Order: sequence, then C-alpha cells, then structure tokens
Amino acid sequence: MDHETDTFTKKLKELSKRYARAQLVPLHQARDFVARQLGFQHWNDVTKEHRTGWLPTQAQLSSIENLLINSLPEDEAGRPKHGYYIQTSIFENDVQHRKTDGHGYQISVSLGDVHLYGKGWHLYVPEAPNKTPRLEIAKQIEQEAPVHEPQFQKQALSIALKRAEQVRAGIASDWPRRSTKPDKEGVVRHPISGAESNKWYCLHCDSSMTGKQIAKSLWHCPSCDASPLDIHENAWWLEDGDSGAKPLEDIDIQGRPDLVVDVADTRLKLELDPERITLLIRSALVEDASNASERLGAIFADINIHEDNDVWITFDEDLWPEHKEPVSALAVAALLGIRVEQELCLRELPFAWPGLGEHTSSTVEYTEMMLKAYASQRADKSTE
Ligand SMILES: [Zn+2]
Repeated sequence: MDHETDTFTKKLKELSKRYARAQLVPLHQARDFVARQLGFQHWNDVTKEHRTGWLPTQAQLSSIENLLINSLPEDEAGRPKHGYYIQTSIFENDVQHRKTDGHGYQISVSLGDVHLYGKGWHLYVPEAPNKTPRLEIAKQIEQEAPVHEPQFQKQALSIALKRAEQVRAGIASDWPRRSTKPDKEGVVRHPISGAESNKWYCLHCDSSMTGKQIAKSLWHCPSCDASPLDIHENAWWLEDGDSGAKPLEDIDIQGRPDLVVDVADTRLKLELDPERITLLIRSALVEDASNASERLGAIFADINIHEDNDVWITFDEDLWPEHKEPVSALAVAALLGIRVEQELCLRELPFAWPGLGEHTSSTVEYTEMMLKAYASQRADKSTE
C-alpha cells in the first residue's frame, strides 16, 4: 500500500474516533456511520473496497468533513470563520520534519498526543495536561550524542510541550466559550454533552471538582487524567450520590509531571525455543529427502528437543533409509550448537505401500500411483 492510501485509511479511522468521542457512541458504530456516508453498509465494506484500490471522491471527503463539523457542539456565536481546529488538524498532513542543533526529528500529532521521533528515540507528550511525558531511548544508542544529554532532552521536551499547548488551545477553540470560561457562579458547559453546572464529578476516580478546576484542565480530570467523557454533572454511580465524591483541593492539582526517560534494548532478539529449533531441523530434513517417500518421512518424523537442547529425530523405517545421513539437518544443528540423536521406528503410516514414493520426486505422481494402488485391490485377494 502506498503512502497516500495509507494516510487515507488513517484519516478515516481518526475521524471515526473523533466522531465516537463527540457522539458518545462505540467506535464500531462511528465507523459504520462513516461508511454509510461513503455509500457503504458497513466499515468492513470500506476496507474491502479500499484493498482493491478504491478511494473516495473529493465530494465524499467533503461530506465526511461536514459530518465531523456537525458532530461538534455549536458555539453560541456560530461557527468560526476559518473552520474548526479539529477539522483542519485531521485533514492536514501533520508529520513535519525538523532539526534541532543539527539533529533531525519528526514531529506529529495523533488524537491530541504529540510525538517526536528521532534516530533511536521517541518523545511522547499525552494530550491530558497532567499526564507524564516520556522519552524512550534505544539502549544500543544510549551513549551516542545527543539524546542522552540532559540539555538535548530539555530542548526536545520544550518543543513537544509547546506543540501540546497549541493542540490544547486548538481543541478548546472548537468548544463553546462557556466550556473554558466559567460565569459569575462558576458554571461551565461540558464541551461534549452540553450539560451546565458549577460542580463536576469524575466517573473514573470519584473526585468532585469546581467548574473553574475542570475548565482549567480542559475537561480532563485534574486528579486522574480521565477523558472528558468520564466527567459528569452528577455522581449517579455513587451510592451516596454527589455527597459520596471526594472534593479536589487546588493544592492537589498538579501540573505536567517531569519527563520520564526509559532506556530499552530494542534490537530484535533470537529466542531458540523447541518450536523454532524443530522448524529449522524439519526444514533441513525436507531438503535432505531425495524422493517423495523420504519427503513424507521428513515431515512425518518425530523431532523432540530435550532439556539441554539436544534433538532426537525418530524416522519411520519405511519412509527413511536406515543408513541415510540427514546432512543438512546435522549441519543446521551444528550451527545452533546442538547434538543430534537419530533412531528408527515402525509405526502405522498414513498411506499403505510407502515404497511407491521412492520412484519419484513428484508428489503429484506419487499421489496418482497411491490412488491407483488403493483402487486396484482385488476383493478376493487376501491382504499381505
Ligand atoms: Zn478522575
């Protein structure tokens, strides 16, 4: 899939998510809603068509844009002249390449979260204003300049925080004025449900807060960072109702916590478990087989890995010649540093007359011979 169509799917998904959030409906419902705007019955139909190269027309895209705008709460003063922030931020190609101190990085915004990507590092600032920013550094480049230097980290963080502020301001600009500015009585309006109150309750942590507090944290719970969907004008879920909630003091409300740096080895690691060893050994056995019969033998053989990683291969006497060395399998085992023990056994085989496969290397030919042999048995002849 090329970059353009990939971006298209991402945007449709992002749009559905926004719609679900604004309309308080499950994501699958929002996706089906978007699908119907595109003339399909379900979201599945969109992805199916998209896989065969289908792309929406400009008119269809515009109708989805309108759908998003209409799903947002209306401002008292009507719609902003320059369109909604969310509308423009979803439909802009928002990955930007920049440099700081000569070191390249990418900055992007996804669902309100800010991401900075550099070579071997990723800095992430969540949308919720009191959630911890994190810097992930790949261990293998840990000692390389500049990402482990506090000065560089500080600079990258301040770039990301600045972008996060812009995003928050942009999102809030789509809301009714009353959602961010309490009136004389401290009453604010919920940006999604439209309810008005001077006291609010968090479904997630049972805190209660003033209109001023919730407006200041842009409708994320100032205590636990729950999203605006968890903020309600009464505590209907508590046994004691509103009086059962814990009031938040201003002093309990903290700003953005300090940057947390995680260093992790992100190199791919080889884990040689019995399943993987068996897979390699069996692949080599198939390579060692020189006819259809031996190939069946290679696939049918028992391969057991013992505790110390020694491997036991049990061949079937009729599907593997007694003195045949599985050269490739032994070579693979040597590379893996494991010992091989071989043994033969006699057990019930999947097909009668196993010797038929010794005359061909073609599975098609073998199958033909085997079918004929089964069909040409005479009813009056006793079995051998
Ligand atoms: Zn909370």
